[in-house]
Amino acid sequence: MTAEIRHDWSLAELKAIHDTPLLELVFQAAAVHRRHHDPREMQVSKLISIKTGACPEDCAYCAQSSRYSTGVAPERLMEKEKVLEIASAAKDAGVSRVCLGAAWRSVRDGEQFDRVLDMVRSVTDMGLEVCCTLGMLTETQARRLEDAGLYAYNHNLDSSAEFYETIITTRTHADRLRTIGSVRQTNVTLCSGGIIGLGESVEDRLKMLKTLAAIQPQPESVPINILSRVPGTPMADNADVPDWDVVRMIATARIVMPASDVRLTAGRAKLSPAVQALCFLAGANSIFSSETEFMLTKAVPSPSYKADQALLAELGLRFREPFSRRDEACGQPDARECLAVEASDIGLATAEPAGVAS
Ligand code: SF4
Repeated sequence: MTAEIRHDWSLAELKAIHDTPLLELVFQAAAVHRRHHDPREMQVSKLISIKTGACPEDCAYCAQSSRYSTGVAPERLMEKEKVLEIASAAKDAGVSRVCLGAAWRSVRDGEQFDRVLDMVRSVTDMGLEVCCTLGMLTETQARRLEDAGLYAYNHNLDSSAEFYETIITTRTHADRLRTIGSVRQTNVTLCSGGIIGLGESVEDRLKMLKTLAAIQPQPESVPINILSRVPGTPMADNADVPDWDVVRMIATARIVMPASDVRLTAGRAKLSPAVQALCFLAGANSIFSSETEFMLTKAVPSPSYKADQALLAELGLRFREPFSRRDEACGQPDARECLAVEASDIGLATAEPAGVAS
């Protein structure tokens, strides 16, 4: 399986895959999926916004940026007891991973980070995988998260390096890659993907996949988000993403990152059960679910636990157990063996900006 993982996909190859007649593309992606994953298994995560709103960054799609009037009320760092209460309910619903999200530009050492580390330890002790998405972080901070038991760190690339600078000006793509490099110095797994529907071209989408596939090892989890248009943001009136675009993106990601979990994330609530099933057939094997029916904030809807339990049962899929993929190492080298990811390693000019949303 390892031999099938390539890091040198060309844009022309990605375009050829992406533009394959749709049913043939889904068939090919499903075949790749079955070689690397149990096709009857779905990894289900629960997002918890542990610190909401008032973010200084200007990500043009985000309900939590302080630059836009979106109606999202800022909230201080959540108490650990509340986090554990939500995590416990999530575990009972079949969730294997809890993702703790904080609307920070970057992690700052101090009392708040210490509290997050304590949350990571306590949720891990419950027998759940923990992911954090806290913004930029240093290698030392990544190691502290690793020591606390963190399973995954999310840091998305959002889009191509070129398009990134048109949607975010307060960070660069190179900043994102530096944080990814920090995570890759630890055994914390990497969750990194992007968003479609921002106004980007198909080429931008494919360039993002090219960059992700070039990371060594490839991200263990690749979220594909569909823009949820948030009133008050510059992207409130963006065009809908056609369902077929979503299926093509999922299938292409599956083929070029065969061992990764491909995560159908924000925007799934807008997809019919039939389109979701087509995405699962094309290789999406990871989702977010929530009893609140929203993702991090009320601005972005999510299917409920009940709806997802019914959908997975209908499709003959079962919830993946926590920690059941770690031993497989995704068929890729141990992250510690890999050097920090630098822009030059993945074929980007170092001056190119881009960024990601936490
Ligand atoms: S996506 Fe993350 S970094 Fe960007 S504004 Fe929202 S919370 Fe802040």
